[in-house]
Amino acid sequence: MKYIARIARVDLDRETSETVELDGSLLRNYIGGVGLGAKIIWDETSADTLPFSPENRLMFMIGPVTGQVPQSSRATICGLAPANDAWGETFMGGTWGAEFAGTGLAGLVISGKAKKPVYLYVENDKIAIRDAAPVWGKDTFATNDLLLRATDEQASVAAIGQAGENQVRYAAVVADGHFGRVAARCGFGGVMGAKNLKAVVVRGTRKPGVFDEADLKAANKEVTKFLFQIRAGERGSFTPESKGAIAMKYKLGCMGVKNQSQGRWEAFARKFDETFVQGKHYHCRLCPISCLESHMLESGRQAVLHMITSAGPNCLIDDLEALQQGYELCNRYGIDNISFGITLSFAMECFEKGLINEQDTGGIDLTWGNSAVMLEMIRQVGEGEGFGKLLGQGSLRAAKQIGKDALQYAVQVKGLEVPLWDPRIFNSLALGYATGNKGGSHYESPGHSVERRNLALGYGIDLTELGFPAGMKRLGLENKAGLIKKIQDVVCLVNSLVTCQYSYQVYGVSLATHLRWLNAVTGWGMSRDEFLQTGERIFNLKRLINQRHGWTGKDDTLPPRLLQAMPDLSDAEQQVPDTLAEQLQEYYALRGWNAEGIPTEERLQHLLLP
Ligand code: SF4
Repeated sequence: MKYIARIARVDLDRETSETVELDGSLLRNYIGGVGLGAKIIWDETSADTLPFSPENRLMFMIGPVTGQVPQSSRATICGLAPANDAWGETFMGGTWGAEFAGTGLAGLVISGKAKKPVYLYVENDKIAIRDAAPVWGKDTFATNDLLLRATDEQASVAAIGQAGENQVRYAAVVADGHFGRVAARCGFGGVMGAKNLKAVVVRGTRKPGVFDEADLKAANKEVTKFLFQIRAGERGSFTPESKGAIAMKYKLGCMGVKNQSQGRWEAFARKFDETFVQGKHYHCRLCPISCLESHMLESGRQAVLHMITSAGPNCLIDDLEALQQGYELCNRYGIDNISFGITLSFAMECFEKGLINEQDTGGIDLTWGNSAVMLEMIRQVGEGEGFGKLLGQGSLRAAKQIGKDALQYAVQVKGLEVPLWDPRIFNSLALGYATGNKGGSHYESPGHSVERRNLALGYGIDLTELGFPAGMKRLGLENKAGLIKKIQDVVCLVNSLVTCQYSYQVYGVSLATHLRWLNAVTGWGMSRDEFLQTGERIFNLKRLINQRHGWTGKDDTLPPRLLQAMPDLSDAEQQVPDTLAEQLQEYYALRGWNAEGIPTEERLQHLLLP
C-alpha cells in the first residue's frame, strides 16, 4: 500500500480546517516530525513572528514510522518557542502519537487565535473546533477526563493546564491526564494558551499505508526481541527505575546540587535509596520496555528523575513526599518540571545572596530546602500569581528583571534551563548545550548517552556505526566535536521519523534499523548517505531559523555556573569545559560554518537549503 502524507491545516481565526497532501520531494527532504515542522516555520513565518502571536504555527507532528514500530507512540509539538523566542521542539509519549497515526494524518499545523477557548477533536479525517468553556481554567487531569467523556473514551487527549492558559514560558502540554506523558520543554503549553486552544483530542482507527509490510514486520520482530533481551537483563544490567539513576549520579558527582554548584549530596542519595518505592510498570503504547519515565504509584504517576533532581538536591530539598506532590502539581498545572526546578534554584540563590528579599517575593521565604515553598511556587507559577508571575518567565528573563549580577546564577542556554546532566562530568555536553538549536537540552545533543555507555552497559549507541572507535571517555575533548555534530544530525532524523529517543540513545536500536523502517514504510530506497545528509539539512535549517531571530555564534556558550569547578569534586572527577571557544571552532569547521558560526553558502547549497 502506498505511503501518503497529509497534514491538516487549522485556522483558528477563521475557524476552518483543510487537509493537504504533501509533495513527495518535500517529504523526502524533511521526512516528517521536526524536519517538516522546521520547513513550515521557515516558509510561513518571519523574523517578526513572535511565539505567542497568532501568526506562529503551532504544530503537532508525527513521522512516517510513528505508530508502526516499537517505541513509536510519540509526537512532537514544535514551532517558535516562548522559552527562547526561536525554534523549539518537545515530545510526548503515551497513547497520543499512535492514536494520531490512526487518523491518516502526518501533522496538524495550527495558526491564528480562537475568539474564545476551544479544543480540537480530530476523528480520522474529520476535524471539529469545539467550545472549551467547560474545561477552561481546569487542570490537565480534569480536562483529560471531561474531554474523553465529551468525545470518545478510546480517544487520546493532549491538554494544557492553567500554566498554559496563563502563558507561562515553560508551560507544558500533558497527554493522557494522570498518566502524564508530558511534552514539557520550550513552553508550547503557553503557545496553546495564546491561541485559546485548550486541547487536541484524537481518535484514529485507520491503518496507515505501508510500502513493504513484510520487511517492516521482520524489522519489528528483531527490534522487539532485542528490547525484550535488554528488559530481561540479558544484555547487561538494566535498571528502569530512578533508584539506579540517582545512585549513578551520586557516584559520578552529577547530582546537580544547590543550583548546580556542587556534585554530590550524600544524605539525599542515602535517603532516596532507603525510601524509594518502586511503582508499577507503565509503558507508552507500542513499547516493550518500561523506562525511567514509566511508573505508576497508587497515588498517581511516579515522579520522574528530572523532577527529583531539579527541584530536589538542586534546591536542597530532600522531602521525597513533597517532590512526589510537586511532580503531580506540575503535571496538573502543565509545567515543565526541569525549567521550574532550575528557575526555583536560581531564585533561591538570588535570595541567599540578597539580590531579592521577602518584599520582592511577596513574603515568600526562599531559603534553600524549603519544600512547602517549592509547592507554593508551583501553585503561583501555574496560577500566574504573585512572585510566580516572575518565575514563570524562566530564569533568563527573571535574571534580567532582577538585575545586578543575577544573570550569573541562571543556569540556562539561550533561555532554556539546562537539565541535571552536567557538562563538567560528561564533557561532550558542553558543545551539545552550547550549540543546541533549542538551548539547554540534553535531548537534542545526547553526548552523555554515549559517554555513559562506558559505565558498563551492554547496550546503547553503537559508536562504530557513527564512524568513531568503540568507547568514548567522559572526560576529555578527543572526538567530542565530531561526536556532537554527528549525533545532533542523527537525533534530527529520529525526531523526524518520530520514535522514542530512548530507543536510539539509551537502548541502541541502530541507525540502520531506523533507515530500514523508513524505507519499508515509504518505499523511498533512501541510502545511508542521503539519510545522514537529511539529518544535517534539518539541523542546519533550525540554525537558519534561529539566526533569522537574532541568534549568532556569540550565543553558543554556557552559563558561568557550568564553567566553574565543583568544590566537592576532585580534579580527576570533573573537567571544566574552559576550552569551549576552541572546540566551537573545530565544530563549526566540521559543520562547514564560518568562524562566526554561520553556515556558508557552499554548505547550504550542498544541503539544498536557501
Ligand atoms: S522507553 Fe519509556 S518513554 Fe520511550 S516509549 Fe518506552 S515507556 Fe515510553
